[in-house]
Amino acid sequence: MNKRDYYEVLGVSKDASEAEIKSAFRKLAKKYHPDVNKEPDAAEKFKEAQEAYAVLSDEAKRRQYDQYGHAAFDQMNGGAGFDFSDFDFGDIFEGLFGSGFGNFGFGGSRRGSQNRARKGADKLIRMNLTFDEAVFGTKKTIKIDVNDICSECDGKGGKGEKKCSTCHGTGSVTTEQRTILGSFMTKSTCPNCRGKGYTYDSTCSKCHGNGSVRVNKEIDVKIPAGVDTGNQLRLAGKGDSGSNGGPNGDLYIEFQVKDHPLFVRDENDIYLELPITITDAVLGCKKDIPTLYGNVKLVIPAGSQSGDKHRIKGKGVEDLHRGSKGNMYVVIKVVIPSKLDRNQKKLFEELALTNLETSEFKKIKEYL
Ligand SMILES: [Zn+2]
Ligand SMILES: [Zn+2]
Repeated sequence: MNKRDYYEVLGVSKDASEAEIKSAFRKLAKKYHPDVNKEPDAAEKFKEAQEAYAVLSDEAKRRQYDQYGHAAFDQMNGGAGFDFSDFDFGDIFEGLFGSGFGNFGFGGSRRGSQNRARKGADKLIRMNLTFDEAVFGTKKTIKIDVNDICSECDGKGGKGEKKCSTCHGTGSVTTEQRTILGSFMTKSTCPNCRGKGYTYDSTCSKCHGNGSVRVNKEIDVKIPAGVDTGNQLRLAGKGDSGSNGGPNGDLYIEFQVKDHPLFVRDENDIYLELPITITDAVLGCKKDIPTLYGNVKLVIPAGSQSGDKHRIKGKGVEDLHRGSKGNMYVVIKVVIPSKLDRNQKKLFEELALTNLETSEFKKIKEYL
């Protein structure tokens, strides 16, 4: 057998680095992998590259090869060249063809098959909501790009189904493999039909054989009352279409809720800061308070302080799951006027002549 030189097979020089060898092999593997290259000699070239890489990527074996050439391994394997059936190509192939590709056909076994029903991909989109939309719920129509089953071929990818001539409909092929221990028959996915067992007379012109097409879909979404920033809504089956009869993926909508000019939301509770004058705080007052559900009257007692909190029960946000409502809290902020007219100033000066000090003032005085 007239074997080609391993360096020549990979197209690298005799003093090529480890990285150069790896990169050269990856390029060849990508080019000749039987799953992507249908040329009759592709499988042979792929195997040849595998063998060359298995030797040259191993420092000890490379040294042996440099010294003795192919003869270094002849005795080991009955003259069939270096036996690489135990060699792990896993990390080389990773990311080369997407997932699911292993040591195709030659000693290894492919994980999974093209024939397996697969769930479509999930999708995530982000949606902005106004404060009120989040609190009360709303309906929206969104547009998203998803993979949908091709209507032209019903997701098959072609027309004129016929039994695969390579595997006779079984979806797998048997290859003979020679090792030191003798010959083995290994079963692998049929490269012609990719395990389906059948091929088509013509490839679907709409989806180019993919079975699915990219479509811009309009979806009506009902957003329940009570959602908040970061909440996700799952719409089952609204993601990408599955393949080989697998279910559709899901669509997730994540919400981003805009701030309200007055209300601040904390889970299901609503906070409102209410400014009142110094006289209202001292004398007490009644105030109209806006809530999510219309105005209410709030009695603010005499002697109110900044930071006093008044609870208005049940005027918060409806809980997303339980349906019960949170509370509203009105937080008092006493605003001290920075400008007074002449009359106001006079009244304050008169007030200043009276004693407004309470027991709280005592403590400081004791330290003076
Ligand atoms: Zn086949
Ligand atoms: Zn189609």
